[in-house]
Amino acid sequence: MSEAGLASDAAAGEVLLETVEMQTGYGDLRVVRDASITVRRGEITVLLGRNGAGKTTTLRGITGLNKVTGGSLRYLGEDITGIPAAKRVRRGISYVQEGKRVFHDLTVEQNLLLGGFSTGVGKRALAGSVEEIYELFPILAEKRMLAAASMSGGQQQMLAIGQALMAKPQLLILDEPSQGLAPGIVKEVMQRVHALKQTGIGILLVEQIVQDSVAISDRVAILEMGKTVLSKPASEVTVEAIQEAYFGSTA
Ligand code: ATP
Repeated sequence: MSEAGLASDAAAGEVLLETVEMQTGYGDLRVVRDASITVRRGEITVLLGRNGAGKTTTLRGITGLNKVTGGSLRYLGEDITGIPAAKRVRRGISYVQEGKRVFHDLTVEQNLLLGGFSTGVGKRALAGSVEEIYELFPILAEKRMLAAASMSGGQQQMLAIGQALMAKPQLLILDEPSQGLAPGIVKEVMQRVHALKQTGIGILLVEQIVQDSVAISDRVAILEMGKTVLSKPASEVTVEAIQEAYFGSTA
């Protein structure tokens, strides 16, 4: 990524996203009762929790795909609780949903270009953005003219992340990028995600793989039955605290 893309020291650490006792769900079904999460610029916040705890639903509330029915959502100091999903994308919130959402029949480069389409910038700027993605993910440069379908699961995950970065987000939201990947590949994807911090964006990462994701994160939040039961700097979180949050103090 170019020097211009790097956050200044002053901007690093700025609060990008803050959900305050956010509630959301599906129709009348309230799945998330209190999501209180903070993401800062230049940092990764990992959101952990058991299957069905409401992690994906929380992300859907943040991105505007599900309606927020209580609490609030602040982004760059502004209340965005009620604004539509498309506006949130334009303000710099990019979301890579669970599973690989790339277009298999298109080439790697075509997939990336599609990711930048919403920015409305010209061909030259788009080509520049593609080159920045290739610097972050050299494997994508190698395979630029090949169909996405020809790539491995890990490579497709990197392409999906690259596609989201083409929209020039300030906040990148990743839902289980490790899903379906072999352990060795998970480590590589995590290292790539970690490196993205250098570009000055903030990352909200949902994961099932605790150790590898906490290792690259600055903050840890744990959701249990739709409620945030822990939210702390990663340096202050112990394995015991994670176990207790997952299994309860009586475990
Ligand atoms: P996982 O790690 O298994 O993806 P999660 O923590 O992301 O779990 P969610 O996918 O947010 O959990 O699901 C939380 C709850 O919401 C679950 O009980 C689930 O059955 C329910 N749920 C998910 N999607 C819908 C939907 N479209 N309509 C109704 N309920 C849903």
